[in-house]
Amino acid sequence: MNAANPGSYTLAEWRKAAESARRRLETRLFIDGEFTDAIDGGRFETINPATGKVLGNFSAAGEKDVDRAVAAAKHAHKSRAWLGLAPRERMEILYKWAALIEERTVELAVLESMDMGKPVSDVIAIDLPSVTMTIRFMSEAVDKISGAVTNTPRNVMHYFMREPFGVVGAISPWNYPMLMAAWKVAPALAAGNCVVLKPAEQAPSTCLRLAELFVAAGGPPGVFNVVNGIGEVAGRALALHPDVAKISFTGSTEVGKLMLQYAGQSNMKHVALECGGKSPQIFMGDLPDMEKAVAAAYNGIYSNMGEVCNAGSRLLVQDNIHDEFVERFASEGKDAFRAGDPLDPETNLGPLVTFEAQKRVLRLIDTGRKEGATLVFGGDVPDRFKHGAYVNPTLFTGVNNTMTIAREEIFGPVASVIRFSTLDEAIAIANDTDYGLAAGIWTRDLDRAHRLIREVQAGIIWVNCFDDGDMTQPFGGYKQSGNARDKCLDSLVSYTQIKSAWIKLHPPAS
Ligand code: NAD
Repeated sequence: MNAANPGSYTLAEWRKAAESARRRLETRLFIDGEFTDAIDGGRFETINPATGKVLGNFSAAGEKDVDRAVAAAKHAHKSRAWLGLAPRERMEILYKWAALIEERTVELAVLESMDMGKPVSDVIAIDLPSVTMTIRFMSEAVDKISGAVTNTPRNVMHYFMREPFGVVGAISPWNYPMLMAAWKVAPALAAGNCVVLKPAEQAPSTCLRLAELFVAAGGPPGVFNVVNGIGEVAGRALALHPDVAKISFTGSTEVGKLMLQYAGQSNMKHVALECGGKSPQIFMGDLPDMEKAVAAAYNGIYSNMGEVCNAGSRLLVQDNIHDEFVERFASEGKDAFRAGDPLDPETNLGPLVTFEAQKRVLRLIDTGRKEGATLVFGGDVPDRFKHGAYVNPTLFTGVNNTMTIAREEIFGPVASVIRFSTLDEAIAIANDTDYGLAAGIWTRDLDRAHRLIREVQAGIIWVNCFDDGDMTQPFGGYKQSGNARDKCLDSLVSYTQIKSAWIKLHPPAS
């Protein structure tokens, strides 16, 4: 096995690594720098969706455990264990943390894969590099956020500065377990906060390792805590906690709305929401490159098994290219993603996260058929993988925007082609949704592109590409896709609050 290049591992080597990680699986909570069981002994199981077998039996945090974790974070904040370090000392720890995560690439990759079914090659190529990039980007900016001295009358000195909130609660989903956690935890820590993370109950194992590695990198105990547990119990307790000053949530719109209620019922904590999507890709008749556009269409909906918040699930295609687009999609997209063992480095389509998710996606596909959409391919479970929660890549045409499959976030590999004639019609269809996370626009006409950028209501617009970008890009939505922005420098700033100091000067009598 070549540890320096896990990309070259064989399936047998990945299976061996998975078995070894499973034997050393950590299942307890991580509070105040230590692994600990839940006070009342509560536990929950996670299932490997590729095999249907139990992966682990994890401690389930109850209210008392959340209290313990918040108290540890509060103490770490008050004692200035983290904030008292010079910004560049914090930066060094965060940098070391990223390096330790890289050293544990193999273990983290197999854990992520067994927890939620993601192909191990995706974790290596996408998730882990993005996690370490997030940590490094945020740590590099530690000493680059500042306040200002304003222009006041001469008998006044006024300045404002940015201070951390104190204790930040983070609640994350299972579709990119480490990455979605890192998008919250890294900027919160870089800004000087202490964090309690509640990872998704479907896939908690890698977040526990991230917290352990933070302490191994020199992070003081209590600064980063993890409370695995059920959303309605541990997540709810965290979001209602009076000592949590900000809650940062990524997940469904339905639960996102609960976060706003919890804040109102408790201490009016700040609430940052990253929620669902039903993103359109608009393919105008003058698109510059049909081959690239079609590839972006199927990659944009089938990657990560369609379990992507910004998945391009609605493909709006103009009349004059509709047939060619569909034909190409059917011939090139059908086999671009093939089901396989997620531990096989050749696999690019794993199972969905759970068997319930599989049932839900198959039910929505059935609804699509019943409501009159045309199933071009897929819609079923791959023959060789009936033991797992797999769904084949699926394409519907003849979809109109009132159908259930065009309105609900399916969160599976299901693409819907919606035909349109005019630009106005495309804009109306694109905006006819409760969501507003992202959109793709394909045209070679600059005027048309600008009009679409202005009029499509989404937080992220990609032009002649899809799901592209880097750490400078604010990631977040309009409408019911949320109110926050991850990734960018603004995200770091959003984990601070402004304090203004207005100082009346009394010049000495001369
Ligand atoms: P979910 O809303 O079911 O769960 C998200 C988190 O909330 C989990 O940790 C869960 O345990 C917790 N939770 C559930 N009920 C809770 C409650 N009553 N109180 C407190 N916490 C509770 O979402 P999911 O199924 O894990 O993730 C998929 C969703 O996440 C999709 O809608 C997807 O679009 C969205 N998502 C959005 C982004 C983004 O950046 N906008 C990124 C990834 C995923």
